[in-house]
Amino acid sequence: MKYNLQKLQKKINYVKFKIIENSHFSKTPHLASCLSCTDIIMYLYYEIMNINKQNYLSPNRDRFILSKGHAAPALFQILAIKGFYNENKLKNYGKDGSLFGEHPPKPNLLPGIEASTGSLGHGLPIAVGIALGAKIQKKTFKTYVLVGDGECGEGTIWESAIIAAANDLDNLFVIIDYNKWQATNKINEVMGSIDFKKKWKSFNWDVYNVKGNDISKIDKVFNNLKKNKKPKLILSDSIKGHGVKFMQNDNNWHYRIPTIDEVNKSKKILLG
Ligand SMILES: [Mg+2]
Repeated sequence: MKYNLQKLQKKINYVKFKIIENSHFSKTPHLASCLSCTDIIMYLYYEIMNINKQNYLSPNRDRFILSKGHAAPALFQILAIKGFYNENKLKNYGKDGSLFGEHPPKPNLLPGIEASTGSLGHGLPIAVGIALGAKIQKKTFKTYVLVGDGECGEGTIWESAIIAAANDLDNLFVIIDYNKWQATNKINEVMGSIDFKKKWKSFNWDVYNVKGNDISKIDKVFNNLKKNKKPKLILSDSIKGHGVKFMQNDNNWHYRIPTIDEVNKSKKILLG
């Protein structure tokens, strides 16, 4: 472990609050989709990945791709507190002409952004290409990609899963943000009940379950991944809107913008 988990939890709460505050001031949605995956993305940036403000252009850096691009406010905020750019820049979030839009911009326009995502189903194929490229070039960096559970309705996800396993991409780590919602509906209302664990195993991946809003459990899983030739799938059992009780599992927060009172209430809950 490179970072104290208690300290990390405080930072996670701060990031969650800033996501809510930014949503209010910029009048942009998707805060609940951000809150379900903030913990695990923070964990990756602080505990696992070799990527920082000094090496983000190095060919040997680890890569992180946010395939569910609508959670960009979480990624933007995390990159800011990791020092990739000044946090004040996020005051432009959602404004005309700003690079901080509702989805990640083109790579290299902002430090730390590896792929412009948001049209769902594209981040994983890009990650597979990067991981395969690393193998061909005999590079040892790792590629991490966060996919939405609803996003698994895209055919490109399964094509990518087959290709990754066929090419022994043990340098590829997929995290599914399993918050049980996709936009306006429950996953099982749209796609029926899917056993993600069974499905990915049948595609010859190593599969792990984790409580996705509990960093000590996330830490255990990442410290006990098998060493073999298979790509890894981490099914992150998460709660949409996690961290603020009145937002949790209330799908109105997929699109709703918080009032200033709700921002202040969230601040008390998250920051005390
Ligand atoms: Mg979802």
